[in-house]
Amino acid sequence: MKAPANDPLIQIQELNVEYRTLRGAVRAVENVSFDLYANEVFGLAGESGCGKTTVANAITRLLKPPAYITGGRILFRDIDILQMSPEQLRNFRWDQLSIVFQSAMNALNPVLTIGNQIIDAMQAHQSISYEQARGHAKQLLRTVGIDVQRVDSYPHQLSGGMRQRAVIAIALALNPELIIMDEPTTALDVVVQKQILQEIKDLRDQFGFSILFITHDLSLLVEISDRIGIMYAGKLVEAGPSLEIFADPKHPYTDRLMNSFPTVHGPRRELLGIPGAPPDLIDPPAGCRFHPRCELAIDGECDKLIPPLIRIGGERDVACHLIKEAEVVS
Ligand code: SF4
Repeated sequence: MKAPANDPLIQIQELNVEYRTLRGAVRAVENVSFDLYANEVFGLAGESGCGKTTVANAITRLLKPPAYITGGRILFRDIDILQMSPEQLRNFRWDQLSIVFQSAMNALNPVLTIGNQIIDAMQAHQSISYEQARGHAKQLLRTVGIDVQRVDSYPHQLSGGMRQRAVIAIALALNPELIIMDEPTTALDVVVQKQILQEIKDLRDQFGFSILFITHDLSLLVEISDRIGIMYAGKLVEAGPSLEIFADPKHPYTDRLMNSFPTVHGPRRELLGIPGAPPDLIDPPAGCRFHPRCELAIDGECDKLIPPLIRIGGERDVACHLIKEAEVVS
């Protein structure tokens, strides 16, 4: 896996997001910070409801009430996305950022052909003729492994794998610097999933964009990510190079999460799972939010003190009271 380039493409700094409900404020994302570098794949993982999709929606500014960003900054090449005007935001989305959602059928317009959806995206943001855009659309379909004859097909005429490839083609239409992929292969069978992961890696190498790859499945992240961040109950609890985390997870939650999925390579092992359920974020547990489920919890410490995210050497960050000796980074 490659090392990050020097300057971050995007910097998430102490991001806080809450959902205001009749029961109270759900603290969905709390003090989350990480950087994503040019040409890097950063994977964000955790159980459902841990806040990873909320982070993605904050970056794209797709959050709508009752969701509110209550603190932090999101810098894209030093410009704060959260301060962009509607016009700046419109140009930022697509020109520099695009998104691939989990369900391609929901992301695609059922009454427009695949080709016309790619052409629409290009003509909305570029001065380009219909013929030029159609030629480019065919080229993009070929790039993602779809027969160019499919340019005039409607979404319902394509298989699930082809639809997801079509969404990736649309995401590539304006050659963005960052693509957010939110569970892009979850709805697909494992064979198609593997093919598409390989294609995403090849496309990244070919076009040089960065990817924020979101999934609940850690085993996928080792396949595709350079670095990963693990979220639990709205907080980032561990981050670092993916191979290092897989070889030696430091946070008990990361360790348990890794033991919840079978490995494709390596010896067979018993799947342990994680006892209990994630907390109610209207009233999260005091101290470490994982302590009610953690078999290593230290009485009187883990249930009282919030563990800070600390750098433990190299690029590894961990938030756990079991880690003592290190420099505090946030
Ligand atoms: Fe477990 Fe304590 Fe570490 Fe939290 S801080 S993960 S409860 S040992």
